[in-house]
Amino acid sequence: MEHLTGSANLPHDVWTLIVGRTAAQSVRDLCSLRMSCTAARNVGEEDFVYRCASIPVSDQRWWSLSPMHQPARNFLARCRQSRHLKVLFRSAVSDLFLGGCRFAGMETMHVVTAHGHSAAQYTVFMMLMLRDNFESKNKGLETLRGLEAASALTICKLEFRGVIQGTWTHLHRVPMLNAENLVCSSHACPSRGNMGAIYRHQRCGRGWHVNDGDGGAAHISCVHCRADYELILFVHLFD
Ligand SMILES: [Zn+2]
Ligand SMILES: [Zn+2]
Repeated sequence: MEHLTGSANLPHDVWTLIVGRTAAQSVRDLCSLRMSCTAARNVGEEDFVYRCASIPVSDQRWWSLSPMHQPARNFLARCRQSRHLKVLFRSAVSDLFLGGCRFAGMETMHVVTAHGHSAAQYTVFMMLMLRDNFESKNKGLETLRGLEAASALTICKLEFRGVIQGTWTHLHRVPMLNAENLVCSSHACPSRGNMGAIYRHQRCGRGWHVNDGDGGAAHISCVHCRADYELILFVHLFD
C-alpha cells in the first residue's frame, strides 16, 4: 500500500488531527486506522484521541456489562483515564442512580463538574436541591442560574435521561421528593405551589416533557419556583 508509506511522513500535528477526527466519527474506524500504519497507531494511543472518541451510550452500557468485550472495556478504561467527560459522566450517573457505588459516582461526578461539563453541573444541582440544607440549596440555585444563562438545561436533561433510559427499572434509584425538598417558601410568591400543575400541564400538552426549551418554567420569575419545577421534572426523568 504505497499511499500509506507516503502518509507516514506526515507531520505529527496532521496525524493528530486525522486520528482525532476519525475517533470522533466512530471507534470502529479509529481501530482500522490504527492498524493501518505505525504513525497512526502511535498517535492513536494519545489521551487526546481517547477524549474525542464517539461512543453511543448503548455501546458504553453493553461494553461495561459484557465480559466478552474485554478489548472494548480496556478502550473505555483508557477513555476514562484520558478524562473523556461524557464517558465519565455516564459512569457517574450509573454509579449514583443505577445501582453502582455511590461514593465512586459522587467522586467522578465532581471531577466531571470541575471540568465544566454542564450535564454534570445539572446533576450536582439536582442533588444539592434534594438535600435538606439551606447552604446546599443556595449553591444549587447559583448553578441553576448559570445553566439558564447558558441555555443548557434542556440538553443536560436529555443527556441525563439518555443514560437512564433503556436500563432495568429495578436498578433505578429514583430520588424521593418530599414537601421539605421544595424550595420556594415565600408566601408572597404568586407561583408558589403551582409547579407540579405546570409540569403536568406541559407534559400532557406536549407529550414530550424533557425538551422544555420552548416552555418549562422559564416564564416564572421566581428562581425558587423554577428550581422546584426542575426537581419535579428530574424525578420524572426516570419514568
Ligand atoms: Zn422565590
Ligand atoms: Zn416562588
